[in-house]
Amino acid sequence: MRHGNIFVISGPSGAGKGTLVALLLRDVPDAWVSISATTRSPRKGEVDGVHYHFVTRERFEQMVADDQLLEWAEYNRNYYGTPRSTVEEKIEEGKQVILEIETQGAFQVREKMTEAHLVFIEPPSMEELKARLIARGTESGEDIARRLEVAKLELSRKMEYDYRLVNDDLELARAELVAYVNAQATSE
Ligand code: 5GP
Repeated sequence: MRHGNIFVISGPSGAGKGTLVALLLRDVPDAWVSISATTRSPRKGEVDGVHYHFVTRERFEQMVADDQLLEWAEYNRNYYGTPRSTVEEKIEEGKQVILEIETQGAFQVREKMTEAHLVFIEPPSMEELKARLIARGTESGEDIARRLEVAKLELSRKMEYDYRLVNDDLELARAELVAYVNAQATSE
């Protein structure tokens, strides 16, 4: 059995993080993905406790006050955070723990866990990112515009990540991500 590791996956909304993480879970048997808490409303098809723990602002603030979150951030007017205890348990169990989180949270994790591996997923271009967000059809025009603004800020920090990959061809990006995780997990 490999010992536990923590991988942080960031990248602009629409870069394909969710799809790549789902493929990583399929292809890396000891991978485990953390379920975040968020104050945003569920999208159509999202299930509480599966995609996120959907909570009120009051509940989220209580979790912060009780130090239950490994990291948290405000993104596009909502709070998002990683429950600390399950992540610690899964690392202890020897899992490859995956956090799919935005950049502010990623750097908080690096400060607390210097051994964390930070991966940034880039879209091929801003035009393509915009096209993907529109095609996804889950956000309003205003929300998409805000997500694109945040994307520019996130892209400006990509060089601080340990590893970057461009999600142009999904199959190539999948193979690259799986290879990176396996290489880090077995190199120590
Ligand atoms: P979405 O609303 O599209 O599900 O997520 C918006 C952004 O929040 C994405 O970049 C996603 O990776 C990030 N995110 C999801 N969960 C967390 C979390 O627990 N902490 C932080 N810092 N960001 C998160």
